[in-house]
Amino acid sequence: MRLNPQRLHNMQKRIQLTMAALLVVFLGFSVFPVQAAEGEGSSIQDGQEIYQLLKSGKRSIQEKSYLKPEQPTVYLTFDDGPSKLTDQVLDILEKEDVKATFFALGEEAKAYPNVVKRIVNSGHALGNHSFNHVYKDLYSDFQNFWDQIQRTEEVFSDIAGVRPQLVRAPGGTYTNFDAYYYYLLEQAGYTVVDWNVDSGDSKRPHVPVNEMIQTIKSTPLEHEITLLFHDGSGHESSVEALPQIIHYYKKLGYSFAPLTTEVKPKQFPVGKSKWSRNMSLSHFQTMLKETRQYVLAHGPIKNEPQDAIQRLVNQTKVVQEESAQILSSVSGVPLQIHVSAGSEFTLESTQYEVRGNQIELSLRVLIEKMGGQVRWEEATKTARAHYGVYDVEYELSTRSLRLYTFGNVVDTYWLADMSLQEGTIIVPLQKTIDLLGGRITQSLIEPGKREVSLAFRQFYGWNENSSFLKNSLFAANF
Ligand SMILES: [Zn+2]
Repeated sequence: MRLNPQRLHNMQKRIQLTMAALLVVFLGFSVFPVQAAEGEGSSIQDGQEIYQLLKSGKRSIQEKSYLKPEQPTVYLTFDDGPSKLTDQVLDILEKEDVKATFFALGEEAKAYPNVVKRIVNSGHALGNHSFNHVYKDLYSDFQNFWDQIQRTEEVFSDIAGVRPQLVRAPGGTYTNFDAYYYYLLEQAGYTVVDWNVDSGDSKRPHVPVNEMIQTIKSTPLEHEITLLFHDGSGHESSVEALPQIIHYYKKLGYSFAPLTTEVKPKQFPVGKSKWSRNMSLSHFQTMLKETRQYVLAHGPIKNEPQDAIQRLVNQTKVVQEESAQILSSVSGVPLQIHVSAGSEFTLESTQYEVRGNQIELSLRVLIEKMGGQVRWEEATKTARAHYGVYDVEYELSTRSLRLYTFGNVVDTYWLADMSLQEGTIIVPLQKTIDLLGGRITQSLIEPGKREVSLAFRQFYGWNENSSFLKNSLFAANF
């Protein structure tokens, strides 16, 4: 092999780079122990500063990035089990091909070890819900809570070989946790998860199925839903309601996934604790040392369902690409929308986002740009538009779009991607245009240039006459 000068130059360059890399590695190693020692020295001082911050009731928020699923997702969670009902829950989940999360109690896990094994082996997530669920033990002092978490973890580890990093506070964190509880559990490597939808199945004994379903249906939808259920004894009606609730979300376009530490946890704000506790600085420092040592001894442990993580990782790539695209759209590329027959309008870079291959924008902006108006009804969380013989109603709580003609419902569509952001309904452009009887005939999404062409069915008269589109499409009287 003959080395030409260019090749030789490249080789020299590569050698230089390798040397530089080795130097970095070498320096890195020699510097690291010094840094670690410094870190240790200052952590006691940190402890004091953090103690003061937490004492004021404020949480010390750790920066962490999470993986946002592309699909709207429901995380079903079942608390207080396992019990004799849990096998039925697992049967339903298997039949529906849905994965969930079980926040189990150490005490119950000891009584139903085979159910714990089945949960883990079926790819569901197992979470820690304390050992005995007795509030006055758990919330009298962090030490007690912490002891129960470890005790339960030993039970799970013995039975199924897992040490869950997900913790759910019995009764939820609100008015039970203070900033110390949150902070110390994070130091020990745990992720605390509350919920944003409560099935209401533990309001009182034996809540009827219909009431549960009504409660769920009346709760506003979000892109990620952590749904609270109970599979402890006495919750037969939760088991009975489960298939209907799964179907409800499936029909809205939701996927189901087990929780992992990569999912941004729903957490309630720190409220005023209803327990009188006194955390002294020295007690805090002892707890801080214990929790930090615990993580060194046991973690970080990854024993979450691997396929769920992989799926999220795949989705994250998409989301990261999306954020890159959103970034470039923020950096000032307007979106030009051509409507057939020569009408066109421009959306400023701040008026739309590109997610994946999908353009999302405010419903109001879209309709106003097309010459119409949107009327928003706060009480019913419904936006109404009217054009020709058609009325369109976007109902946010069910994420549905209803088409009416002469007051009769023609059709109902589900838009799982619809969301409310700072008082604005965000809708996907393509689906919305589809539903309005149009289609995207061309789209060009490139760095520096964004163009979309729309065509509407002749039936509506949209593509023939742009002034009709501007003036009559969404008549002024809605
Ligand atoms: Zn509970």
